[in-house]
Amino acid sequence: MTVQTNTLAHPDSTNATARTLENYIDGRWVPARTSAHQDVTNPANGEVLARVPLSGAADVEAAAAAAKAALPDWRGRSIGERTEFIFALREQFRRRIDDLAASITQEGGKVLSDARAEVTRSIEVLEVACATPMTMQGRVLEGVARGINTETIRQPVGVCAAITPFNFPAMVPMWFLPFAIVCGNTFVLKPSEQVPLTSELICHILEEIGLPRGVVNLVHGAHDVVNAILDNPGINAVSFVGSVNTAKYIYRRAAEKGKRVQALGGAKNYMVVMPDAVVDKTVSNILGSAFGNAGQRCMAGSVLVTVGAAQSAIMPRLKEEAQKLVAGDGRDPKSSLGPVISPAACDRIHEAIETGIREGAELLVDGRRPGGVPAGGNFVGPTILNNVKPDMRAAREEVFGPVLSVMHVTSLDEAIALVNNDPRGNGTSIFTENGAAVREYSRRVEVGMVGVNIGVAASPAYFPFSGWKDSFFGDLHVHGYDAVEFFTRKKTVTSRYFSSGTSGKFFTEQGDKH
Ligand code: NAD
Repeated sequence: MTVQTNTLAHPDSTNATARTLENYIDGRWVPARTSAHQDVTNPANGEVLARVPLSGAADVEAAAAAAKAALPDWRGRSIGERTEFIFALREQFRRRIDDLAASITQEGGKVLSDARAEVTRSIEVLEVACATPMTMQGRVLEGVARGINTETIRQPVGVCAAITPFNFPAMVPMWFLPFAIVCGNTFVLKPSEQVPLTSELICHILEEIGLPRGVVNLVHGAHDVVNAILDNPGINAVSFVGSVNTAKYIYRRAAEKGKRVQALGGAKNYMVVMPDAVVDKTVSNILGSAFGNAGQRCMAGSVLVTVGAAQSAIMPRLKEEAQKLVAGDGRDPKSSLGPVISPAACDRIHEAIETGIREGAELLVDGRRPGGVPAGGNFVGPTILNNVKPDMRAAREEVFGPVLSVMHVTSLDEAIALVNNDPRGNGTSIFTENGAAVREYSRRVEVGMVGVNIGVAASPAYFPFSGWKDSFFGDLHVHGYDAVEFFTRKKTVTSRYFSSGTSGKFFTEQGDKH
């Protein structure tokens, strides 16, 4: 493999002719107060698409101040008026699905059908956020004592920030932004510095629909921006999605500063195949789960566990079908999977494969040198490591690339033990027609999302999405009813009135006081 220069690792080695992105603060596009930049590249061919500024604390301070200033007017508007903006945003996402998908593919690499599916998922979230006038309602109990009522109302948390990863440039910001603002909060977004262009496009769309200035602000950058968000006393809540170690760090530091926080981490997702699984459908689901989005999904099935006779039923077919998948430019309809995000990711994945071989795994399908791919791209083809053992690196680490590790066991109990011994627990799937096995598996696995004959069991937007254990730090999950819980604070008001409210005297009493 040709080892390419990782432009992302050298903040100042940028292409001076590329457009420099600006932050979106208080309804204006403004240059970041920094001279540090890095390239945003098309992972399919290395083309430099733009330069992203590595903003600093002053930029975050400006964004947080704008968000805070916008808060009184925004939260003072009716819920209906705020929801109108979400409707409008949803309409624009539908109308501009091709633009959004093209942007996702260009900067993130995934094939266009996956990019369109990502936008469709974002639209689903927007639709659920449109139900907020129902879901945000409080509760009231009449007569907690004679003449006394108690009601719990939900109020916005304040300024909310989201820090997002590279692999879903539209959907992950949309997990948070619509719910945050419809609940009456204002918002600061820090997208991944590797894929900032889709967030820029989303902010242009917000401008087009006339969202009041300061309600949503965008700050580009990397660690300095994140740290400034975590430390900024004007920011009240932080949503994070990314790798395990960063999630842990963000959860700890944000909580220490008294912020509300939800931090979703990385994953190692197991797919368990029972001897009675329907072979064709199971194989196609495994392939989609392991190699879709080039394995760069937090819900990617990266470990396959066959139980008993499932091994001989599944493995020959799996090998044959995996070899038919084609790596290539995401814009080419013939491509089954696009490039991985960066040359550094490419190198890391190669290293993981080579370590697997060194540690004794069998290289059943070798994707290290895919043929016919565009020059300058970060391509890895579908790779299967067979006979992986739990102590091997291929079983322990999140590879985050198109690499499937396969283990073979003899019982469901052993499979469950493998799943539960993993420190993460984002998603898992079981393939079987046996309801009893499904029930046992679903009950015992320590994982947040379980698929039954479904390779990527990502919850729909009207259900909560999140993992367990090291895949999630916090209490309230993403979307579903949890979103309103996260983006509001409950206030309980207990009240009574001394007059009956029916006599003229009542009005006299009120008048006397003023
Ligand atoms: P990442 O953790 O490297 O980066 C995520 C965000 O955190 C980025 O905006 C980045 O700028 C920032 N960041 C990274 N390191 C930081 C540090 N040391 N200090 C402060 N900020 C830092 O993740 P990524 O590579 O962009 O995304 C891939 C990871 O995200 C995978 O582990 C994947 O499983 C995970 N992920 C999880 C979910 C989920 O729902 N659990 C969803 C998508 C992705």
